[in-house]
Amino acid sequence: MNEHVIDRLSPYLDGALGAADLERVEAHLEACASCRRTYRELETLQGLVRALPDPEPPPGLADRLHWRLRREAAGLRRPAPLWWFSVRPPFRVALACATLLVVLGVPAAWMANRFAPPKTPLDTDAYVREYLMLSVDRPLGDEAAPPFVLSDTPASESPRR
Ligand SMILES: [Zn+2]
Repeated sequence: MNEHVIDRLSPYLDGALGAADLERVEAHLEACASCRRTYRELETLQGLVRALPDPEPPPGLADRLHWRLRREAAGLRRPAPLWWFSVRPPFRVALACATLLVVLGVPAAWMANRFAPPKTPLDTDAYVREYLMLSVDRPLGDEAAPPFVLSDTPASESPRR
């Protein structure tokens, strides 16, 4: 007996075999009970499938097809998707997280900085010291004040009486 023809049974059933294959399969089916049984099962299955009712198209399909064909014939394109929906979902999530971080993080950082106690308390001594150092060369605000006079002026420089 030549080799089984199980892989040829489906095209045989569909009438899709060439003359040479057809003769070979028919001759084999005459002789081989195993392939004949498989063939009958396939035949039964095909009959059951053919007995199924044709699926009904969803309601409105014809109208939608007609509308779409008319629109394409008119050269109209589908409106461009919103930018957000053209981004791939993983990137969309990352982008949303980054945006949330900026939107919430910047004001939060600003508030925390604004209401936090100053990092170094004011050093009043250093402040006064610096003020004095910087104001040494400046004239006093009161110009009418008498110039500073040394009390131990040498007698030779003082007018004689
Ligand atoms: Zn066989």
